[in-house]
Amino acid sequence: MTETEMLSDRILAGDRRALARAVTLVESTRADHRAKATALLEVLRRAGRQALRIGMSGTPGVGKSTFIEAFGMMLIEQGLRVAVLAVDPSSARSGGSILGDKTRMERLSREKGAFIRPSPASSQLGGVARRTREAVALCEAAGFDVVLIETVGVGQSETMVAQMCDLFVLLLAPAGGDELQGVKRGIMEMADLILVNKADGDLKAAATRTVADYAGALRLLRKRPQDPEGFPKALPVSAVTGAGLDAAWAEMQTLAGWRQDIGWWDRTRADQATRWFEEEVRDGLLRRLSRPEIRALMAARAAAVARGEISPEAAADEVLARVTG
Ligand code: GDP
Repeated sequence: MTETEMLSDRILAGDRRALARAVTLVESTRADHRAKATALLEVLRRAGRQALRIGMSGTPGVGKSTFIEAFGMMLIEQGLRVAVLAVDPSSARSGGSILGDKTRMERLSREKGAFIRPSPASSQLGGVARRTREAVALCEAAGFDVVLIETVGVGQSETMVAQMCDLFVLLLAPAGGDELQGVKRGIMEMADLILVNKADGDLKAAATRTVADYAGALRLLRKRPQDPEGFPKALPVSAVTGAGLDAAWAEMQTLAGWRQDIGWWDRTRADQATRWFEEEVRDGLLRRLSRPEIRALMAARAAAVARGEISPEAAADEVLARVTG
């Protein structure tokens, strides 16, 4: 049995240690690791397992960790297995990871049915996108029913996460009416469900008002073909008391069921796979172009073109033949 086969067998059996090792493998940029990761993903893909992928965004302090802990525990109690992945391009700058932090999801991290993975300390958004979608595929192969992908409120990472998820949830805190404008329209348009957290104690009334404000704003958005009547929706929740979590889950299931029934899921996943394939080809070509011997050839050919010794087209053909050869 090869190393890849052994690892894939353990992942398919739901072994979380093997899953963690595989995620480390897909995070690596070393060529030999990449080759192993690609082989592993290809084997696992054949199992054809899928999870409900939920993207979740919200600015720091809104209660994401608290929500995921409570929501994740509720799903675990229903017998589901829950993976939490974090996408945090900002951690590349700060050097630390604030998302997917196990110490902030203590109960969930102790559960056998849970898998929590913080974002790696350094990576560019492009690398993050690939690492995340590969980590999602690994979690799916390991039999997780729900994969939650947590991200912070910085536009680009949200778009990326929304594009790889079945549902996108925006978590907000109760606010005064004038803060509505603070949420970028683009993010509102991506959201399938807006959850106004902290709808408890002193904040309950403000949360109810905020829900009404957002519900009004959502009604002004164009109805999307992938939505049944009434979506996108805004709901109040409390990650601390657990109020509204079951209602939020029910809405997510309704939406997911609808999208599956109308074939939107399959179409979207097929579109995503096509786009990723094209990206991989482009990225692969760019990586090859940046190899030292190609860079040297490019510089030499550019100089020859400048001197009028060769046409730009002929010089380009020569370089491209070396890149793809
Ligand atoms: P994150 O930065 O988005 O992950 O936010 P945290 O989960 O760390 O929560 C930020 C703060 O909000 C913490 O002090 C939490 O205790 C508090 N918090 C989170 N959820 C709720 C909630 O439902 N109600 C109330 N009252 N406080 C909450």
